[in-house]
Amino acid sequence: MISLGGVEKTYKQGTLSVPVLYEISLEIEDGEFAAIMGPSGSGKSTLMNIIGCLDRPTSGTYVLNGVSIPEADEAHLAKVRNEYIGFVFQHFHLLPRLSAVENVELPLVYGGLGKKERRERALEALGKVGLSDRVHHLPNQLSGGQKQRVAIARAIANRPAFILADEPTGALDSKSGEQVMEIFTQLNQEGTTIIMVTHEDEVAAYARRRIMIRDGRITEDRRNTHELAR
Ligand code: ADP
Ligand code: ADP
Repeated sequence: MISLGGVEKTYKQGTLSVPVLYEISLEIEDGEFAAIMGPSGSGKSTLMNIIGCLDRPTSGTYVLNGVSIPEADEAHLAKVRNEYIGFVFQHFHLLPRLSAVENVELPLVYGGLGKKERRERALEALGKVGLSDRVHHLPNQLSGGQKQRVAIARAIANRPAFILADEPTGALDSKSGEQVMEIFTQLNQEGTTIIMVTHEDEVAAYARRRIMIRDGRITEDRRNTHELAR
């Protein structure tokens, strides 16, 4: 579970302090599927970086699965990221010289698994995203949608509790975007908590909660209506 209390984020630029997030209080329970939406520059990526323990709040509280993040040192944050969080980015961030399966294995190196187990886990993850027939392809031999599915396999190989996705369909055609969202829906049904940033309504419709951010503040936080109708 994620619990942010009165989080503020200010970037230092020379002698200037630039506030970007104000008074963000937010709880995300295990098993949720949430979309964070808002105009460009509103603070979505900053909030995702804080939730993902890539950056720290300037003030306020953040507890992730019982760990108080502002007090944790870098090594502890790295451990928390590796154990609990899978990251998916708009532009995939695959290593171009590694095959699909090698890209997926990469984060497993930190988990203390042996070579054979890493390969098995990676193949299993690629199977889950429907890429069992592409495991030895290099990224540039794959379509955008396939690359994003490799990135999702990499994110889930460690079996994280949370997936954080920043505009995961932003660089994809609508068909590939739908495939990605169907994979997220299935992972969520299996219990993975999903938090994604998107500016597309059709993409946000897959989520069961929408959190709107404007000028660094949460302006709206609601369950999707189709969820209420279920
Ligand atoms: P979004 O993801 O909603 O587009 P961001 O979180 O990327 O918004 O940015 C929010 C604001 O913070 C923007 O005004 C941006 O220019 C500023 N910002 C982001 N990162 C930094 C940084 N490292 N240093 C200074 N300002 C930053
Ligand atoms: P995109 O353009 O695909 O949305 P960015 O390059 O803006 O992604 O990266 C988003 C954030 O995630 C940045 O703060 C960046 O430092 C961080 N990031 C990028 N790649 C990784 C990675 N492999 N592991 C952890 N953090 C990353």
